[in-house]
Amino acid sequence: MRRFKFIRDPLATEIGNNVEEFLRMLGGPACIFLDGEDTSRTRALVTLLHGNEPSGVMALFNWLKAGRRPAVNVVCVVASVDAALESPLFSHRMLPRARDLNRCFRPPFDDAQGALAEEILEILHLHHPEAVVDMHNTSGSGPSFGVCTYMDRHHDALVSIFTQRLIVSNLGLGALMEISEHSYPTVTVEVGGREDEEAHALAYEGLCRYFGAREVLDQEETDWGLELLRDPIRLELNDNVTLTYAEQPCASYDITLKPDIEHHNFGGVTPDTLLGWASGPERRLFRALDMGGRCAVTRLVRIRDGQLYPAQALKLFMITNNASIAHADCLFYAVADDGAAVCD
Ligand SMILES: [Zn+2]
Repeated sequence: MRRFKFIRDPLATEIGNNVEEFLRMLGGPACIFLDGEDTSRTRALVTLLHGNEPSGVMALFNWLKAGRRPAVNVVCVVASVDAALESPLFSHRMLPRARDLNRCFRPPFDDAQGALAEEILEILHLHHPEAVVDMHNTSGSGPSFGVCTYMDRHHDALVSIFTQRLIVSNLGLGALMEISEHSYPTVTVEVGGREDEEAHALAYEGLCRYFGAREVLDQEETDWGLELLRDPIRLELNDNVTLTYAEQPCASYDITLKPDIEHHNFGGVTPDTLLGWASGPERRLFRALDMGGRCAVTRLVRIRDGQLYPAQALKLFMITNNASIAHADCLFYAVADDGAAVCD
């Protein structure tokens, strides 16, 4: 079953007057092919894997409106158009009961989201791009960063088109960037918060550099000065543990985190940084596994006299202050304060 709509070099007059009209014109998952000045090579842009992350498709709309021609061919995949159009606009990460599309890029492809992911992989294989950028927004406000499954000068060069911060992580979750290992250099770029004007601006500026540059992969050794965060560990809640966010400890919850915990995003915390309040042994409340599959909870957090602190100097990121995201996903990711993996 072919569900993608294929469009080649749309004119600025054909794409609607705003991003909502553009999405309605697409009507569903779409593949837009742009002929480049040099038609012998192709790059790929994937965006809107998550329907509530608008920066990438807004940037693409603005590029098409400007009527510019990219340096090389670009194949643009705009995926979760249906979820994005579900009212109110850009509020649904995916449609109800659908799997997270960015967890579906590995077999089995046997449900609707799996089939969509498989078709995206087929489009990429067909065009054999020299590079793939998958553009996302974070749910809360925060700085931009790139993610890739392993580092080499190609991945460094690709990320540095957009941002100076790179997380190297291979959790094997079925994310699109995991195809990097056996196909084309692929990076995830998180341009910042889904509601932040700065994120929309970075998406457009970065897209213009990515589409406009003759070379996006490094040809020789260059130090891009990236801030590296390697093999982060996720701090998760154990089942049936209750969590809230407040300025003072709430006795009816197992864990109370300070509402401003988000302010530590990408900053350093020390064993004296109060994160919140909790009681009971750390391992009863939390779970965390390192790359070797060992429990890392007591390397991340420590409870002293009912107060919750980092167990050592750490750098925390993708911190949420939303209890339902903390339950469904994780509280935060952590690396050692020098960006290396947390060790014993
Ligand atoms: Zn996303």
